[in-house]
Amino acid sequence: MLRRTIGAVVIGALLGAAGMAAAQQPITIRAGTIIDGKGGVQRNAVITVDGSKIAKLAPNAAQGVTYDFSLLTVLPGLIDTHVHLANHFGKDGRLAGDDETPGEAALFDAESAYTLLMAGFTTVQSIGAQRELALRDASTRGQLPGPRVLTSGTPLTDASLTPEQIRQFVRKTAADGADVIKIFATKSIREGGGQTLSDAQIFAACDEAKKQGKRIWVHAHAASAVRASALAGCTTVTHGFLITDAEASLMAMRGTYFEPQTGLLLQNYIENKPKFFGIGNYNETGFKFMEESIPKTLAMFKMAMKHKDLKMLMGTDGGAGAHGQNAREIIYRVQMGGQPPMDAIVAATSLNAAALGMQNQIGALAPGMEADLIAVDGDPLTDITALRRVMVVMKGGRLYKNVAPSR
Ligand SMILES: [Zn+2]
Repeated sequence: MLRRTIGAVVIGALLGAAGMAAAQQPITIRAGTIIDGKGGVQRNAVITVDGSKIAKLAPNAAQGVTYDFSLLTVLPGLIDTHVHLANHFGKDGRLAGDDETPGEAALFDAESAYTLLMAGFTTVQSIGAQRELALRDASTRGQLPGPRVLTSGTPLTDASLTPEQIRQFVRKTAADGADVIKIFATKSIREGGGQTLSDAQIFAACDEAKKQGKRIWVHAHAASAVRASALAGCTTVTHGFLITDAEASLMAMRGTYFEPQTGLLLQNYIENKPKFFGIGNYNETGFKFMEESIPKTLAMFKMAMKHKDLKMLMGTDGGAGAHGQNAREIIYRVQMGGQPPMDAIVAATSLNAAALGMQNQIGALAPGMEADLIAVDGDPLTDITALRRVMVVMKGGRLYKNVAPSR
């Protein structure tokens, strides 16, 4: 009952009558500029959406369209391969812990998901908490406005497990319905980022994930753990704050996806310090590590970018305070890291889709793909900050946001 009420209010406020009819008859969208997510650009084109999918892209014709976004740039819905939807500030305004009721927690999760969708993120991978499985299932039912969600459920953190026990953990997590396995192979950067799982433990996790047909995301800062992960054939290394040129080369050679963070994660902690401080490792030592790490992550990102074969994903690790600001990572990579805007956009769309195993469904604007698209005010190829001016959000052919200026 509660869920239906929320859905009705939000969707009622955001959808026009034509949006509600999207599922029934093809709709047409005129775009001033289309960035297709795979490196291509078209000017003055029309996208036809039939049901949940893109039916065609065609040069602009004179006919009328359902939606005229000729003043805007249309892109695939953005993808963040690493968020924490279950991580939020609670009733007292500080990082929420275990003292919330399940109802409170679930609604905060739904708010985080809604915030991401409104910011143009139509797919996220949320890798930190068991209850994200329920959020994923709610998202799949399609009544609650939010991104498509993929999740790991509970991650592996216990370094005392034997390799065989780690394999059991992976099998159980897969059987419980996780889309991806998440393991911690090193400490947090707030504790220095040293390796915690042995090379043999990392191998057991990644080998078993592969046997179960699951992708695996490895939290690793220390270079030694990144090396072990790449050699073990793990899908993705996230963070990698302490890597050198050698690990970037190794990941490129092994085809390991690399998901670094440089523009939002640490900045968000520092901007919201009073809301985290005094909880767990959010202490003076932890904040000192984080402050010192910002310029280091930027240098690491610039180094990694020189490795042209390295598949660098766009994952923010965004949790409390960061939801909805995720595009800051893309903007920072371009403005501070010197990444070409097109490369940064491809990372957040088609490359991310490939890392999720969804390259045939999302991450590009092309016939047959899911109609996940956004329209932004401005041209992100010349002003990357346009990615934070999201006027229109469509997911699976359904329009969730349209505040585009009328012509
Ligand atoms: Zn994380």
